[in-house]
Amino acid sequence: MWYYSTKGKSPAVTLKEAVLRGPAPDGGLYMPESLPSFSGSYLRSLPFKSFSEISFEVASAFLGTDIPSDVLEDIAGEAMDFPLPLTGLQPGVYCMELYHGPTMAFKDVGARFMARLMSYLYRNMDRPLNVIVATSGDTGSAVASGFYDVDGINVVVLFPKGRVSRLQQLQITTNGGNIHPLEVDGNFDDCQWLARTILADEELNHQFTLTSANSINIGRLIPQSFYYFEAYARLQGSTAPVFSVPCGNFGNLTAGVMAWCAGLPVRKFIASVNINDVFPKFLDTGRYSPAASVPTYSSAMDVGNPSNFERLDFLMGGMAVNFRESIMSWSFNDKQTADAIRGVASDTGYIMDPHGAVAWLGLKEYAGSTGFSGPGVFLETAHPAKFPETMEEILGKYDFVPPQLSKLEQGQERFTPVPCDAEAVREYLLSINR
Ligand SMILES: *Cc1c(COP(=O)(O)O)cnc(C)c1O
Repeated sequence: MWYYSTKGKSPAVTLKEAVLRGPAPDGGLYMPESLPSFSGSYLRSLPFKSFSEISFEVASAFLGTDIPSDVLEDIAGEAMDFPLPLTGLQPGVYCMELYHGPTMAFKDVGARFMARLMSYLYRNMDRPLNVIVATSGDTGSAVASGFYDVDGINVVVLFPKGRVSRLQQLQITTNGGNIHPLEVDGNFDDCQWLARTILADEELNHQFTLTSANSINIGRLIPQSFYYFEAYARLQGSTAPVFSVPCGNFGNLTAGVMAWCAGLPVRKFIASVNINDVFPKFLDTGRYSPAASVPTYSSAMDVGNPSNFERLDFLMGGMAVNFRESIMSWSFNDKQTADAIRGVASDTGYIMDPHGAVAWLGLKEYAGSTGFSGPGVFLETAHPAKFPETMEEILGKYDFVPPQLSKLEQGQERFTPVPCDAEAVREYLLSINR
C-alpha cells in the first residue's frame, strides 16, 4: 500500500517511510491510498468477537499488505493488552473507558501500537532512531511508556513548563533510560512548533533518523480506529451509534471518521471541545482560523491549531458542507464541565474526568437539539485520578489514587529545561546522539 500526502505535492511513500517520517515533506500528512471496506457480514459478526480479534482484524484490513499477519497479530495483541469497557451510564448514554492502559489515558492505545510498529519497521537499521514528541501532558507519558527500553530508539519529549499536571510530569520525567524529557519555556503550541521545526530540519535529518510520535503519525492514528469497532460490537450491532469525542488535536476523531469511511455504521460524530473552539467556528462559518490556545480544565484539549484538521479536511474532500453532514461540534467552558462532573456524580455515582465530561456534554447537547434517544457513546479519554488538583477543585474532595499512579511518587525526576528556541533543542539532540 502507498501512502500519500494530504497536500499531494510529495511523492507517495511506503508504510515504513510514512511511519518514520511523521509529516510529509510538503507539510501535509500521510494517508493510505485507499481505506478498507468492511462488508455487512463482517460488521454483523462483530458482536461475537473479542477486542483482541477485532484489533487484529481491523489492523490487518488497514495494514495487511505491509506487515506479515503473524507480526501484526503480535503487535496488536501486545499493544491492546488492557480492557476498554463500555458501560451504560444513563438511558441511551454509554461511556467507553479508554484509559485502562499503563498511563491511564487513551493515548496508550496509539502509542503502544506505534512503538511496536516502529520497532518492527526499524529493525536491522544501523543508526539510532530519534522520536520527537510534543505533549500537552498525556501524549508524552504514553509515548514515553510505550517506547521505554525499546532498543535503538531515543525519545525526546517536549512538554510545556507548568502546564502539565504533577502526575503527568512524573509520568514523563521518571522513566530515564532512552526517554529524554525537555521542559520548554512556553505553551503546548510552542512545543508543537519546536517539534515540527526539528523534524523539518534538513541537516539533522541528514545526520540521524528523526520521526514524530504525535498523532500526525499514521502509525498512531490507525489503532485508534479499533475501539470504534469495539464499541459497535459491544452495542450488539444495534442501530448506528453517535460518538461524542473530546477533541484536541483531532486524532481520535479522525480515526473514528476513518472507521466510518471504511464502513462502520455511525449516525453522527460529535466533536466536543473546550473553549478552544476553532473547529465549531469552522463548521459555523466555513473558515478555519487557528488561534492561540487557552488553558482549561481539560488541558489535553487546549489546542489552538489542531494538527489532524488537515486529515479530516482531506477525508471530507475539503468541503465544509461534507463536514456538516457527519460531524457536529460544540464548545463548553470550565463551569459547564465542572457542573457536568458534579451532576453526573450525584445522579449516577460515576466520576468523569474533565475531558470525558466535555464529551458527555456534547452528547447531551446533541440529544437536546435533536431528540436523539441513543445509543450514544462518549469517549472517556483519561482516568480522573490523573488530574487530582482539578478534581478536588470541582468535587471538593477527591483522593483516589490507582496503583499505576501511586508508584510514580517513588520515581526520580530527570528533565532538561530549554528555552522556546529550536537551536537549543538541536543542540540537545546532537548531545544525546554523540
Ligand atoms: C490527547 C487527549 C485528548 C484529545 O485527543 P486528540 O486526538 O488530540 O483530539 C482528549 N483527552 C485526553 C485525556 C487526551 O489525553
